Amino acid sequence: MRFIDREEVSRRLTYERCIPIVRQAMITFSSGESKQLLRSIIPLSEGRLFGIMPGAMGAHAPFGAKLISVFRENFDRGIQSHQGLILLFDPETGAPVCVVHAGEVTAIRTASASAVATDVLARKDARRLVLLGYGEQATSHARAIQTIRDLESIVVWGRSPERAHAFAERLQAELAVPVTTAASVQEAVAKGDIVCTVTSASEPILKGEWVRPGTHLNVVGSSHAGPAEVDNDLVVRSRFIADSREGVLHQGAEFLRAKAAGLVGDEHIIGEIGQVLAGEVEGRRSADEITVYKSLGHVVQDLASAWALYSQSH
Ligand code: NDP
Repeated sequence: MRFIDREEVSRRLTYERCIPIVRQAMITFSSGESKQLLRSIIPLSEGRLFGIMPGAMGAHAPFGAKLISVFRENFDRGIQSHQGLILLFDPETGAPVCVVHAGEVTAIRTASASAVATDVLARKDARRLVLLGYGEQATSHARAIQTIRDLESIVVWGRSPERAHAFAERLQAELAVPVTTAASVQEAVAKGDIVCTVTSASEPILKGEWVRPGTHLNVVGSSHAGPAEVDNDLVVRSRFIADSREGVLHQGAEFLRAKAAGLVGDEHIIGEIGQVLAGEVEGRRSADEITVYKSLGHVVQDLASAWALYSQSH
């Protein structure tokens, strides 16, 4: 069995390669071709989860599963908070054929999916990126979004000003784009056309009233019913697109909170990003609209990325 380690994923799964893979995977998913179960989550202890994500890309297509642990405290230890394996099976024989480093695929495919959503939902002239959070996803989101928009600035906010500054310096050196820090979330989002929420916050850090008309947001940090990064007002005010409608109806914390408060119904989810990409659902309708892409993360993104690495390597 082939093993694709972290170094190989990082070297070969470039954003230029992953973005079209994820784009096609989301179209395939929304067309109903892929098969998957909702992600199962076993809470291990405070701040520690084990997630199980099985799926098949189609009836005669690769299938498999991602097994992933999320240990929040790993950020302070300087190691990936997401650790695990993607196991691939051969569609012809049913045999397991490859194991891929899931932490690295997760970092890259999640940001690639946000880049796909940003490309189709953000204004064409959106050039100012705001990152709320400075962890692994913040880095990967900056790298991915830089490939689809010619960024003129990046503003970073995080709870620790020291960590935010160190992150901004690293990112600026890498991307050759001016990267500054903001003292508050409100100050940060005032300077952005594209906002990515990529924190492990359990209660909202971003209020709808702070968000400027015309902003596109990728709401990424919460992947299960529980923690929420943005408030009800933002959900209500936005044109709300899901990666998976079923996923968000069951596990999209921000949407579920607004729904529980009686502020929105299920129809508030305009559609899935795959439907927007396929031209079946209208994305942004005006330069003033606030668009939200709610990312829970999907196994088709993992399987498609991992299969590309496996099938094109021998
Ligand atoms: P990291 O552990 O690398 O970074 C976590 C970030 O969250 C750090 O910037 C940390 O900074 C910040 N943070 C933690 N607690 C809070 C808080 N209460 N308020 C504000 N900031 C906080 O994680 P990743 O970058 O890998 O992932 C970020 C989030 O995205 C996680 O919640 C993760 O589960 C989620 N995720 C979602 C995916 C999807 O597909 N939608 C896929 C992968 C991850 P500090 O502690 O210094 O404040």
